[in-house]
Amino acid sequence: TSFSDCEVHKCLLDNIQRMGYSAPTPVQKCAIPIILSRRDIMACAQTGSGKTASYLVPVIAKMLSERPPTSTVARSAQPVSCILAPTRELSIQIYEEALKFAHLTGIRIVAVYGGADPKIQSKELARGADIIVATPGRLIDFINRGKIDLSLVKYLVIDEADMMFDMGFEPQIRTILDSMKDNKRETIMCSATFPTVIQDLAAQFMNDYVFLAI
Ligand code: AMP
Repeated sequence: TSFSDCEVHKCLLDNIQRMGYSAPTPVQKCAIPIILSRRDIMACAQTGSGKTASYLVPVIAKMLSERPPTSTVARSAQPVSCILAPTRELSIQIYEEALKFAHLTGIRIVAVYGGADPKIQSKELARGADIIVATPGRLIDFINRGKIDLSLVKYLVIDEADMMFDMGFEPQIRTILDSMKDNKRETIMCSATFPTVIQDLAAQFMNDYVFLAI
């Protein structure tokens, strides 16, 4: 199997090729078709396995097949996709990879995380965001200030769910999910480990999910 076997937009395939990803990694081979088929998924995979692309590729592919022509897109911070990560460093890594996949697609990505000037992030948000990559605390600040509206989110990713839990972010994740509409959402969770607490979260946050361990 190769990336071109997946039902993804030509522009995205070009970007994958430009990034030098010639073949999908094992987690990508399994997860991409599952996510494209609109199932929720719990993916247990280590950093270094290519887990970031395993959700970015299908999420961007679905956004490209669904988006209205660019001329009619209203630019406001009402993202279609929201990716949650526990740390600033991971958020930046995800953001940078997402930028490469979204190159020339017209999809706008904004990262919001703690430890950086909120004014600059706020300005970026005001220009519109199709994908938000965020740490929980800063995201909630922006929701409370009316700068981000998550009610249109269709694709939610909770990356490094076990680290989120260990860092005590469970209440924040609940608050964030409360501002989304459950019936519209497809959810992807990634975790290096799958202890009982993460099994419980997966059961609460997802519908009839596929479990994938690589
Ligand atoms: P991750 O597990 O998402 O942190 O990815 C680990 C590293 O593998 C990153 O530097 C990616 O750019 C790279 N990578 C991910 N998927 C592929 C692929 N299919 N082919 C080559 N490199 C990849």
